[in-house]
Amino acid sequence: MRIGSGIDVHAFGPGDHVTLGGVRIEHTHGLVAHSDGDVVLHALCDALLGAAGLGDIGQHFSDRDPQWRGADSRRFVSHVMALLRKQGLAVVNADLTVLAESPRLGPHRDAMRGQIAQLLEVDPERVSLKATTTEGLGFLGRVEGIAAHAVVLLSGT
Ligand code: MG
Repeated sequence: MRIGSGIDVHAFGPGDHVTLGGVRIEHTHGLVAHSDGDVVLHALCDALLGAAGLGDIGQHFSDRDPQWRGADSRRFVSHVMALLRKQGLAVVNADLTVLAESPRLGPHRDAMRGQIAQLLEVDPERVSLKATTTEGLGFLGRVEGIAAHAVVLLSGT
């Protein structure tokens, strides 16, 4: 068994939707990023890479590389999963937390869990997705962006 954790943050900017856990969510702002700014999938990639001892997301998908401009972050997770498969590693479960004042994730939670479970090749009940605010404190409380935290457990060598 191997455990990994990952964190990501993106700032709000102009736009009419955010993409979280591979799901498009209408919003008053977008997220500023080289890719689609999916903080949940970025934190998840770092947790997977961390558990496998394979570095971090920036080493695999440079934000200076034009091929990742506006990229669908599901591609990042799929690529990382292929690396894990090569090492004989598989996901046991993932526990994800989104920290944000908005948008509210309740209505999108099942869609996000389903999407993430598909990417991780596990049943949705193996994917936990939690949301919290920071009670108005700090940059998240000022609604300047969204943060995500991911923990994953891998089985294998
Ligand atoms: Mg990111």
